[in-house]
Amino acid sequence: MSPDQRRIEELERKLNERTKEVEQLQANASYLERENLKLKEENQQYKGVIFSSASLITYLKGPEYIIEFANEPIRNVWGKGDQVVGKPLFEVIPEVREQGIEDYLNQAFYKGEPFHAQSLPVEHNVNGELIKSYFDFSYMPQRNDDGEILGIGVIALDVTSQALLHEKIRNSERQFRELVNFMPHKITVVNSEGKGIFCNQNWLDYTGKSFMEFIGQTDFEMFHPDDRKKVSSEAKNCFFKGEILDIEARIEDKNGDYKWHLIKATPIKDGEEQVTSWITSSTEIQKIKEDEKRKEDFLKLVSHELKTPVTSIKGYVQLLLATLSKKANEENNPLPVKTYLHRMENQVERLIRLISEMLDLSRIEQNELELRYEKFNLNKHVEEIVQDLTCSSINLDLKLSHDFNCEVYADKDRIGQVIINFVNNALKYSPDSNKVEISVYDHKDGQVAISVKDFGIGIAKKEQDQIFKKFYRISGNKDDTYAGFGIGLYLSNEIIERHQGKIYVKSEKGKGSKFTFTLPINQN
Ligand code: ADP
Repeated sequence: MSPDQRRIEELERKLNERTKEVEQLQANASYLERENLKLKEENQQYKGVIFSSASLITYLKGPEYIIEFANEPIRNVWGKGDQVVGKPLFEVIPEVREQGIEDYLNQAFYKGEPFHAQSLPVEHNVNGELIKSYFDFSYMPQRNDDGEILGIGVIALDVTSQALLHEKIRNSERQFRELVNFMPHKITVVNSEGKGIFCNQNWLDYTGKSFMEFIGQTDFEMFHPDDRKKVSSEAKNCFFKGEILDIEARIEDKNGDYKWHLIKATPIKDGEEQVTSWITSSTEIQKIKEDEKRKEDFLKLVSHELKTPVTSIKGYVQLLLATLSKKANEENNPLPVKTYLHRMENQVERLIRLISEMLDLSRIEQNELELRYEKFNLNKHVEEIVQDLTCSSINLDLKLSHDFNCEVYADKDRIGQVIINFVNNALKYSPDSNKVEISVYDHKDGQVAISVKDFGIGIAKKEQDQIFKKFYRISGNKDDTYAGFGIGLYLSNEIIERHQGKIYVKSEKGKGSKFTFTLPINQN
């Protein structure tokens, strides 16, 4: 190979090497260009996120807190227009400097500690007017690779509406507390498990306990030992069914004395109808109870004193009637003596019934109502009562049907008293009808039912539970037309409850009523 040829080869080799180097450089350049583009895109995306965010975002550079950028929401809050970039923060919003903002920024910038705040009130001067808003915000120190702090990143959220709502809730809670402390009632709130979560001052004053002693406790010990079982079982029953509790019981005060209270508890339900808690209001009725007791003692005394003379009047009236029927009849006698005597007998009968009811009432109140249990055929007993009733009242159109035959173990006279009361009411509250239907049938729950149906004035739905209460009479019924004291059904209810039976009414106003009671069937 000639020297020229070698030189040419050498030159070709170098040319190839250069070409490769150039290709490599071109590849690197396009890689850098791509990376640059990627970075630009990413930057654009970050900016997009920051500028489209509903959060308030700004970056404050250096110790003068120069606004490097600020998104639209934060500029709107500042209310100083769009030309804020490049200016120191406290030149743009000087009003916030004295509101602690500078201290918080300094803490982040000079100590390098992030600062977070919740619902912080800040007033901004917008067009000369100070507008108060609330913010959740974070000041985050921003560092370079050497750890040196260059500025503060600020992210904030305007939580004014939530803060105002919380303030409203706090205010209404304060008002509620003031209200329940002002009330004369003792108010307590327990959770769905019956454990205390709130009580008013009156409750604490009465029981002498502290709030902490009340919280988280279920306390049936505070009730009088004689009332404890009744309160606990009724409360559990109402808690289980989610129904209103309405009960009278004695509650122990801080001196260890028991005073009568009317206790009402109502369930609080969530959106899904689940009971979350119970509000209880206890009203002291000690004085009313003492007055009631005095009244009852007086009634008992008067009834006792009246019973003997009235019974003897009845005896003399009956004797006179018997003597008269033997010796004379009405046609020979110018005076309608017999008619008058019958009327007298009826009135005396009413008086005796009233006196007996009064006596029963006080016996019930003082837990002295004794029941004389015996086994007897119910159908026979009902038949006898119906016969007596038909004989004593000529106007009565009474139909009796027996769909079921059975024996019961009960107080015969008291059961008779309930049936007579139902029939008397059926007649009394049916001014335009004398039709009464009695039936005895199987109640299908181990109990036999006796129902008394009339076609009288009927009872509105809302009154149907009330009429079994002591002295309850439906207002609007003309008292003169329908004489009475509202004791009969109360006594009937007490008698049937003591027999473990049920008593209820089905009625429609203007169409009539059907009163029913049930008794356990005697299985042996
Ligand atoms: P009284 O009849 O003496 O008022 P009760 O305790 O027997 O007392 O009855 C309570 C109330 O129930 C009555 O005042 C009356 O308003 C209503 N009531 C009872 N029975 C009937 C009935 N069969 N029809 C309509 N209302 C009735």
